[in-house]
Amino acid sequence: MANVANALLSLDVDAVRKDFPILHQEVGGKPLIYLDNAASSQKPRAVVEAIANYYYRDHANVHRGVHELARRATEAYEGSRERVARWLNAADAHEIVWTRGTSEALNLLAFSLGQGLREGDEVVVSEMEHHSNLVPWQMAAERTGARLRYVELTADGRLDLDQLASLLGGRTRVVALSHVSNALGTINPVEEIAGLVRERTGAVLILDGAQGAPHLKVDVQALGCDAYAFSGHKMCGPTGMGGLWARRSLLESMPPYQGGGEMIARVFKDHSTWAEVPHKFEAGTPNVAGAVGMAAAVDYLEAVGLDQIHDHEQLLTRRAMELLGQVEGLTILGPADARGRAGVIPFVVDGTTAQDIATILDSEGVAVRAGHHCAQLVVDRYGLTATTRASFYLYNTLEEVERLGQVVDMAARMLRG
Ligand code: PMP
Repeated sequence: MANVANALLSLDVDAVRKDFPILHQEVGGKPLIYLDNAASSQKPRAVVEAIANYYYRDHANVHRGVHELARRATEAYEGSRERVARWLNAADAHEIVWTRGTSEALNLLAFSLGQGLREGDEVVVSEMEHHSNLVPWQMAAERTGARLRYVELTADGRLDLDQLASLLGGRTRVVALSHVSNALGTINPVEEIAGLVRERTGAVLILDGAQGAPHLKVDVQALGCDAYAFSGHKMCGPTGMGGLWARRSLLESMPPYQGGGEMIARVFKDHSTWAEVPHKFEAGTPNVAGAVGMAAAVDYLEAVGLDQIHDHEQLLTRRAMELLGQVEGLTILGPADARGRAGVIPFVVDGTTAQDIATILDSEGVAVRAGHHCAQLVVDRYGLTATTRASFYLYNTLEEVERLGQVVDMAARMLRG
């Protein structure tokens, strides 16, 4: 128990919870227990206030204006880019492209990089990918005649690294994998994978960081990838906002994704030339308030400490795995050892459906998700159609995990009759 107590001390969860007004409510007469963080996180006051204050005091369109508010808005927008670049340890703020989130970042890559794909080229993805890191590559393959190759999963929800190594070769142009799986909780050994990719191919390594960036300290240079996609709403930031980090040389080599204002250098009747990166990829009036919210979210997460957040989630995950492991007929998907996983726990209970379990949990105030979690190949791989998924974040408590264990046990007994 000493470890448990110490780990909890590393993060003052009561103080953290005070920053999140939404958590302090009842649903259906029961205290809300929010365990749907892999789908979207809640927002601390500091983020909501940063966005409100931007609109109250500083808003105007960015870049073109010469007046005071245009200057302030531009500073807020570009200053937030610098903040996010520092957080990811990007070499340069020009390597951060703002997008609507991970999905748009990955679509941008698949569209722009996709234009360089040729028949016979190979794109390596895995069976654990979210549809956002799969469908854009399927579309690129369809357009170009390139071929998708799949890294298979082991029985305990890890990437089969030997099989991955066997896929890599002279035809591999892109390797696109998740940092952390939203459907299994697996933390992938991305540095090791980057080593394999470098050793065997000249391919671009893209990481889907939607579930990595909110929970782990990310240093894009140390990871050894070429591009990293993330979403604000999963990391205490705003919805509809996120970004793409990519090496400057890669961004510079890629054609634009969308055309319009902001992304051009000069427009002629028959052609146009492009702005420097990252603006080449940011057509139209951007989400300035979203960028401000992203910087506030990063400030918040770093003030609490990404390592502390990870330790806290590990503690909750270990306890949840212990408790759920005691429920008769319950199977947890993903790595058996909590150290290899993030705070995402997908499970199934014999003789019940994932939706029925989630519905009973909801009636007890416990918010979880049931379904394929936009990773249909994962449920297919394990012969399922859906799982129930509990996912934790910095504001969840051990008491909430205890309650999850009790309610899942109760639901399983009720449904089996
Ligand atoms: N990848 C993973 C692993 C995810 O969990 C998600 C969100 N569920 C996405 C991509 C897509 O993120 P967004 O919907 O924010 O674009």
